Amino acid sequence: MSGIKKIGVFTSGGDSPGMNAAIRAVVRSALYYNLEVVGIKRGYEGMILGEFEDMDRKSVANIIQRGGTILRTARSADFKTKAGREQAYQQLKSRNVDALVAIGGDGTFTGAKVFGEEFDFPILGLPGTIDNDLFGTDFTIGYDTAINNVVDAVDRIRDTAESHSRLFIVEVMGRDCGLIALRSGIGVGAESIFIPETKTDMEAMMHRLEISRKDKMSKILIVAEGEGDSGGAVELAERVKQRFPQYDTRVSILGHIQRGGKPTCMDRVLASRLGVAAVENLITGRRNEMVGLLNGKIAFTSFDHAIKHNVEINKDLFKIVDILSL
Ligand code: ATP
Repeated sequence: MSGIKKIGVFTSGGDSPGMNAAIRAVVRSALYYNLEVVGIKRGYEGMILGEFEDMDRKSVANIIQRGGTILRTARSADFKTKAGREQAYQQLKSRNVDALVAIGGDGTFTGAKVFGEEFDFPILGLPGTIDNDLFGTDFTIGYDTAINNVVDAVDRIRDTAESHSRLFIVEVMGRDCGLIALRSGIGVGAESIFIPETKTDMEAMMHRLEISRKDKMSKILIVAEGEGDSGGAVELAERVKQRFPQYDTRVSILGHIQRGGKPTCMDRVLASRLGVAAVENLITGRRNEMVGLLNGKIAFTSFDHAIKHNVEINKDLFKIVDILSL
């Protein structure tokens, strides 16, 4: 047993829907196991500045269905400095916090790893990011909601595209990671998908558009924002317009609506399971790991591995797009 008495919980980096469900799970399970729990506002920035709040069961009532994060989030340049981390450590000590649950993405876990090693401080991480770009979990908290937000939006775009026989190029989030584009693209029946991890064969894509059924009323191409080869949605639209002046080509950049709104049931359940597992395993002495879900089971991955290993793109999913966009 670890002898832990008080846990701090915080969210950091980009917000993701389901973070509130994760905070709730951490707070309620800490109380269940007779631990005290404090919420740390605005991630590492609030840790440095001592923005702490005692949490009880009521502090997390009625939040499981809310997007965003009640603890708010921030990016902290100071935490990247030794002096900033020292100040954060002193704040934690002064409030008798002896373990942390960090909810965030790869930057958050990089900070957690450095801090955990520097001050011999027990930390477990929960993967909270819409990108699904962490190694060691099949899904991150927020990814399912984000792709469902994309699917909802593109279904609407499809209605108007069909009515006017238009070709829509839809840009979705994913600077370095195309998993939002790939999965939502299949979900909306996209004709083509462009992601940063694979080189786009532009000629093959144009050829497919050329031979695609003439009676097709609408065409949807999904582009991840970080896709370099096509130059993003706007530049791709120019290339398509030049090649197919007969198409009425339009661009839609979905932007921040993708990360807002109610978390799906899948994200709520994922967040709840991971939050409980984090508290239970801090108590038994685990540290410096991300808690994830692999093949339906709770799994632990060192922060190092979670951050550095690239999540592989499933090539079969690409093939599915080709087969089904006849
Ligand atoms: P998302 O994937 O949604 O952007 P993230 O957790 O990757 O989330 P970042 O902004 O990259 O978001 O990181 C969050 C915070 O983690 C940073 O603002 C910084 O305070 C801390 N952090 C990142 N890298 C380091 C580092 N090398 N050393 C110390 N702290 C770091």
